[in-house]
Amino acid sequence: MTGAGQNPNRTSSCPICGAGMDVRQREWLFYCRGCDLWTSSLDTDSERTDLVYTHDEQAFQQLRTNHSAVIFEALAASGALEGLTMLDVGSSYGWFMEAARERGILPCGLEPQEEKAQRAIEKGLAIQLGYFPDDLDYSGRYDIIAFNDVLEHFRDADAAVRAARDILRPGGRLIVCCPDSHGLYYRLSLLLSRAGWKNPLDRLWQKGYPSPHLYYFSSASLEKLVARHGFGLVEDRELEASTIKGLWQRIHVDREKPSVFSVFLYVAALITHLVLQKLFKSDARLQIYRKLPEGRQAGSPLRESGASS
Ligand SMILES: [Zn+2]
Repeated sequence: MTGAGQNPNRTSSCPICGAGMDVRQREWLFYCRGCDLWTSSLDTDSERTDLVYTHDEQAFQQLRTNHSAVIFEALAASGALEGLTMLDVGSSYGWFMEAARERGILPCGLEPQEEKAQRAIEKGLAIQLGYFPDDLDYSGRYDIIAFNDVLEHFRDADAAVRAARDILRPGGRLIVCCPDSHGLYYRLSLLLSRAGWKNPLDRLWQKGYPSPHLYYFSSASLEKLVARHGFGLVEDRELEASTIKGLWQRIHVDREKPSVFSVFLYVAALITHLVLQKLFKSDARLQIYRKLPEGRQAGSPLRESGASS
């Protein structure tokens, strides 16, 4: 039931530089040293239907709401948001679109999971069911495109970024939020995995889930992937990786009833949240890019100005 298959189409050459990747810790896990990029050959487990959507919603609403506030504050710092058009790729329950709407932005969303899309539609949001970019019916171009915790799920993240560029207006902005492979939880999971406890690392990759992670970026590898499509990095910062509200549901998002093990994990996650997380890098990263004019060499206005967080 929980065993995700291997995708035979996935090779172990780096999707950014094309070099061969090292197999690390699992037969489905690859690492490019040159790019600092992790990828997996995990396949979707469409058989799995035991995810508890009420837990999923409670687990992430507070966290995503906090992230939205940070993202829109960063966007607003470089100009008014009112009247801008936005496409939210993988719009989930519509929380990010609601936050956009509150700020006068005109959002539309694309979401492949019917349960989530339906919840967003009930809030009066313009949602289309399907995958990016193939199922996108909306015509026109956008001022903002958001990949909030979705880029790592794409079979071909490179093609997704390229497609986003094609439908962004000149000077438009691309928002990317991703798990960070330099984050505390990921580092800890690698250590535990090396010591023989595989569960935390498998869980971070969402092995056996309907849509597992196929990439784990660092700040550098994410920029390397995105910038070469004519984007300039204008914001690069950590986001909080967890909130106390929702943490309990997040621990057992895949089961109706918690187990003794859930309680153990919850205590460990709570300690990590309250103590360790403040001392180490966060597992969530935000990058915002601006679409550069055609023909301009990909570069990083952020790095050039030396302002990085
Ligand atoms: Zn590489």
